[in-house]
Amino acid sequence: MKFNITTLLLAAFTAIVLSACNTTPDQADNGKINIVATTGQIGDAMQNIAGGAANVTTLLGPGIDPHLYVPTESNLGAFSNADIIVYNGLHLEAQMLRVLEQMEGRGKVVVEMGAAIPAEQLLSDTSSGGSYDPHVWNSPPRWSMGIVQATQALQQTDPDNAEIYQQNSERYLAEIADADAYIRTELEKIPAEIRVMITAHDAFGYYADEYDIQVLGLQGISTESEASTADVQELAAFIADNKIPAIFVESSVPVRTIESVKEASRQLGHEVIIGGELYSDALGVADSGADTYIGMLRHNVDTFVAAMTSN
Ligand SMILES: [Zn+2]
Repeated sequence: MKFNITTLLLAAFTAIVLSACNTTPDQADNGKINIVATTGQIGDAMQNIAGGAANVTTLLGPGIDPHLYVPTESNLGAFSNADIIVYNGLHLEAQMLRVLEQMEGRGKVVVEMGAAIPAEQLLSDTSSGGSYDPHVWNSPPRWSMGIVQATQALQQTDPDNAEIYQQNSERYLAEIADADAYIRTELEKIPAEIRVMITAHDAFGYYADEYDIQVLGLQGISTESEASTADVQELAAFIADNKIPAIFVESSVPVRTIESVKEASRQLGHEVIIGGELYSDALGVADSGADTYIGMLRHNVDTFVAAMTSN
């Protein structure tokens, strides 16, 4: 069925291309180049690097699950008007791959953030359609490699503003390095034996790898597969056995998946609290404090540390 929807959208897309001109509100005809970003994390990076010298359109809003997202007709119009398209890749935007390939075929600059990271620094993924875990933004140092690559591609696409992009990018990378240092300091506050983050899906593998904590997700790497009763029981047993104080919901994954774990844990005689909401695959809404990438990093570590050290 997904296939049919994609096919229909491709037909719609062809119609848009034939009608030649269709601009979205973010792509004003102001003489600046148009950048289209898929996820909020990428859109935030491109906003920071562009700093007003280019138009940035972000396709996936707060709370939107990128694994399942099918591009809309207006998204296809935005792609069509883009000078440069930046996407996560590593099979994150699974329903967009055909359209992205088409755009590349039409000679547009298409940048895959994940491709900037050497294979030996990527985590493998056995549960979704790709070869690697796509959640690379949860390692700020690895994500920074993608930002360097996107900056270079933007500079080549718009050489007149190359110096502006360079300065903006360096400033933004320094802010990310500060956030990374903050996370390392904060995580030390959690006793080592319970430095375990339990969430709805396996979005924090790179976080675990980067910061030497354990991360367990109820679902696999992608939200395309549902958790089974056996998965719930297994996770609940781990929580009860290790006296884990808190588990976490994610903004882009339904709450019920983690509530079932809380209930199963209670039946094993261990009360675990839901420690709050983590932003895994999508940024937060405006004023949530997690509506930027750096805000998301800080929110996540603050929420995690507060819940794990609350008693
Ligand atoms: Zn995910």
